[in-house]
Amino acid sequence: MYDVAIVGAGVIGASVARELMKYQLKVVVLEKGNDVAIGTTKANSAIVHAGYDAPFGSNKGRFNALGNRIFGEICDELNVPFNRIGSLVCAFDEEDMTTLKALKENGESLGIPGLRIIDQAMLRAFEPNISDLAIGALYAPSAGITEPWELTVAYMENAMDNGANLMLNFEVIKIDVESDGFLIHSSNQTVRAKRIVNAAGVYADTLYKMVCDSPEFTIHPRRGQYFLLDKNVNGLVNHVIFPCPSKLGKGILVLPTTEGNLLVGPDSEDLESTEREAIETTGNRLDYIKESAAKLVNNIPYRENITTFAGLRAEPSTGDFIIGEGKISGFYNLAGMKSPGLSSAPAIGKHVATELSKSLKAPLNPHFNPIRQKRIRFEKLSDAEKAVLIKEKPAYGRIICRCESITEGEILDAIHRNCGGRTLNGIKRRARPGAGRCQGGFCGPRVMEILSRELAVPVESICQESSESFILIGKTKSEVTDNEV
Ligand SMILES: Cc1cc2nc3c(=O)[nH]c(=O)nc-3n(C[C@H](O)[C@H](O)[C@H](O)COP(=O)(O)OP(=O)(O)OC[C@H]3O[C@@H](n4cnc5c(N)ncnc54)[C@H](O)[C@@H]3O)c2cc1C
Repeated sequence: MYDVAIVGAGVIGASVARELMKYQLKVVVLEKGNDVAIGTTKANSAIVHAGYDAPFGSNKGRFNALGNRIFGEICDELNVPFNRIGSLVCAFDEEDMTTLKALKENGESLGIPGLRIIDQAMLRAFEPNISDLAIGALYAPSAGITEPWELTVAYMENAMDNGANLMLNFEVIKIDVESDGFLIHSSNQTVRAKRIVNAAGVYADTLYKMVCDSPEFTIHPRRGQYFLLDKNVNGLVNHVIFPCPSKLGKGILVLPTTEGNLLVGPDSEDLESTEREAIETTGNRLDYIKESAAKLVNNIPYRENITTFAGLRAEPSTGDFIIGEGKISGFYNLAGMKSPGLSSAPAIGKHVATELSKSLKAPLNPHFNPIRQKRIRFEKLSDAEKAVLIKEKPAYGRIICRCESITEGEILDAIHRNCGGRTLNGIKRRARPGAGRCQGGFCGPRVMEILSRELAVPVESICQESSESFILIGKTKSEVTDNEV
């Protein structure tokens, strides 16, 4: 019997798993997909928000502020990129300036450091490409950017290095409540656990309904779409740039990624509660994003766009994050994790691990190792370092992805670590082949060959993302017999 079963391997479930390993606990993570970070965590703005906008006294306010404060320490331990580049909320009229003052006051009540309202001249000095219509901004120096999928992989890898178990392709379809815990069923396996952590993202209400007839909350998906522009545009903006927020959220923003790409979006579109897989992008919404972003930043060069994508916010009926034991003893909900869920993940992980370790009376784990081994970025090494590495490991001398200069050595590392990638997108999220301008057009087949060879599986079985997304479906030039003609 496990002490804790976590359902869902997004950033929230992975952070809880890693923090639980600081205690002497038997932990399993159950994920319906064939990889971690395949839900909301793979498609968001990647901002570690400063945390000035959530209401004082809310879970969002509390966990965002704390999450931001400890984000650097976590990313240092797990060797994940995190840059505190600061954010600017821009005002376009006096009404907006009043909103900025209210945001600043709210932020100060939450203990957010360094908030400052800056005038047009200062704003222009910070951001030369800002719209001429912007008259001032709220500057939040503690806001940052990270890589949500690498953080999630790193959390899970570190949890597994410390003894956690990850079961992929395990979709929880039924839960029996028993006297000493829960019996958790997929279509072909069962797992027993004393406690359940519900980190099932947009499905958290569905999971809760498996144990509770009268749940306190429901969730519906709220979609956000994006443009991702090539690294050529690096430097167009230097901070996370927001308009003033509205009832529908933080608005269309423009920001750099940790790799130097430019992200433009997201919009905010309420979907039916049945549309929990609707991550397609749509022409009309992308046009709306372009129009809105043009009011914020001048001359965004969309000819440099390399892809568009969409993510689904888990919008809770309660408005706030739902964190804690629900109506069923031993069942912990971490639901309604819309933004700023990524920013809050480190704080939520620590909080839940502390609660569960107390309830299970678990002592500290004296062998816990907080450090995740840094991954090598060949492109960023000096020539001398490259030469030494290639001599020791020749696979680092073979470039597989020309757009991003990713070597075979980096791909092997992404496959063979704990929580290694098994799909093209899984390898892309870990090591970046296919993340550049050609989006895998050239390197995709080579990555498939490496995956096939290293995992000793037929190349036809390698998928793009989900377990059904096969890439090779037949031979282009098969031999045709007389009978078939
Ligand atoms: C457009 C957009 C922009 C955002 N921008 C930001 C931002 O800039 N900063 C920020 O802090 N936050 C942001 N967020 C919010 C942030 O992305 C989320 O809070 C976070 O990713 C939620 O993580 P999660 O682990 O709760 O959910 P998910 O990542 O969705 O993980 C849930 C997992 O549960 C699995 N699952 C579901 N049902 C089952 C089942 N029955 N059995 C087994 N597994 C199951 C799913 O497959 C999935 O992998 C944004 C969100 C969106 C959509």
